[in-house]
Amino acid sequence: MNYRNDPRFSGIEPFERTCWLSSPTMHGKEQEWVDDAIRTNWVSTVGANIDEVEKAIAEKVGRKYSVGLASGTAALHLAIKFLGEKLYGKPIVGHGSLEGKRVFCSDMTFEATVNPILYEGGIPVFIDTEVESWNMDPVALEKAFEVFPDVKLVVIAHLYGTPTKIDEIKAICNEHGALLVEDAAESLGSTYNGIQTGTFGDASIISFNGNKIITGSSGGIFLCDSEEEAKKIRKWSTQSREDTPWYLHEELGYNYRMSNIIAGVVRGQLPYLEEHIAQKKAIRERYAQGLADLPVSLNPIPANCVPNYWLTCLLIEDSAMADFYRGDREEHWNSESGKSCPGEILSALKAFGAEGRPIWKPMHQQPIYKNHEFVTADGKCTTAKEGAPAEGRLDVGADIFRRGLCLPSDNKMTAEQQDKVIEIIHRCFA
Ligand SMILES: *Cc1c(COP(=O)(O)O)cnc(C)c1O
Repeated sequence: MNYRNDPRFSGIEPFERTCWLSSPTMHGKEQEWVDDAIRTNWVSTVGANIDEVEKAIAEKVGRKYSVGLASGTAALHLAIKFLGEKLYGKPIVGHGSLEGKRVFCSDMTFEATVNPILYEGGIPVFIDTEVESWNMDPVALEKAFEVFPDVKLVVIAHLYGTPTKIDEIKAICNEHGALLVEDAAESLGSTYNGIQTGTFGDASIISFNGNKIITGSSGGIFLCDSEEEAKKIRKWSTQSREDTPWYLHEELGYNYRMSNIIAGVVRGQLPYLEEHIAQKKAIRERYAQGLADLPVSLNPIPANCVPNYWLTCLLIEDSAMADFYRGDREEHWNSESGKSCPGEILSALKAFGAEGRPIWKPMHQQPIYKNHEFVTADGKCTTAKEGAPAEGRLDVGADIFRRGLCLPSDNKMTAEQQDKVIEIIHRCFA
C-alpha cells in the first residue's frame, strides 16, 4: 500500500527533510573538545575529556564514582559481572559469574538490558510490565520471588526516559536480600521523587549512544558509590592489567574503556542536557494537544516522576484497533474507518518521510528467549515454548507492544513538521 496515493492522505506533501525518531543534536562545543584531544595528542583511552565527563556525570546524577566505557552495554556487562561475583564468588576462569543462576529482569526493554546476563552465564527470568509506568511491575516482581525465592539479582530499565517505581522495586529487593542493576541508558536527567535515575542501583549505567538524550556517537558510563567497585570496573575495562612492571593478569580482561575522542563529543553535549529535555518535553506537550481528539493516549507519567521525555509513545485504545495480524516477521492489517494500528501509522509516517518505531518487543516474545520463564502480576510463570501467554492471560507488555508505537521525537523537529505528523495520524483514523 502506497500511502502517498491513498485518498485519505490527499493534500499532504512529503517532508523535505526526514523527520527522525531521535537523532544526534550537535552544538559546536563537541568539535572543540574533539579538536582539543587531537591537538594535544590525547587520542587514546586516557585524557582530560574522559576525566571531565566522569566527573560531570557523577555530579549531575549524584553518585560518588563513575567510569567512562565504550558503550552502555559494556557498562551493563561489567555491572552485572561485578554484582554476580559479589553474590556468588569468583568463577573458574572462562566461566561466567552467574553460571546457571536465575536473574530477574525487565521484560519490555531493549535487548541490551538482557544480553549481559547471558554473557555471564545467567538465566534471565522476565518480569511483566505495569500499566502506570511501562516499566517492571513491582507486583509481578514480588510474585517472582514467591516462585524463585533464591534469586539474588534484579535488572531494571527506565523505559523511554520514564522512571520505574523504584522505591517499591528497591523495597522488594531489600526484603529478599537481592542486589539491583539499574539500566538508566535512556533516562539521564529523569527524576523519581526529585532524585536522579542512575542513583538507585547497587550499580547503574547510562548510555551515550547516537539516539539518546545526549550522545558521544557511542559510549556509556558506569556509576556506583563504592571506590573498590569503581576501581575494579576500571581495571577490568582496560584488560585487567595488574599494577606490576610487566603485563601480569590475575583476572579476565576487557577492552571496554571510553575513547577520549568520544568523551570530547559527550563533554561538548553536557551543557545542553537540560535544553534537550525542555525540547523533548515541548514535543510531548504538542502531541498531547494535537492528538487529544483521537482514541489514543501517550506513554504514562507517574505522579512522582519527572521524565526526560526522551521518546513520546502512542497507545491506541483497544476499541480503535483495526483488524490486524502480526506474525514473527511480518504483519498485515485492514484499514477501517475510525480505526488504525501501529503498523499502519508507522507505514504512513514512513511514506511521507517521518521515522517512528514499534515499542520494544517484549523479551518473553523473542524467539531467542522462548525457553525462559516469564512472570506476570497474577503470579503465573511460564515459557513461550509451553504455549504461554495463554489466551486471556494478563500480559501487559504484549498488550503495549500490540497497541503502541514510538512517535518521531527528534528535538530538531519543527512545530510545522510535528503538525504534519499529527495530521498524518489523524488521517490514519479517518
Ligand atoms: C541504548 C540502550 C542500551 C545500550 O546502550 P549502548 O550504549 O547502545 O550499548 C541499554 N539499555 C537500554 C534500555 C537502551 O535503550
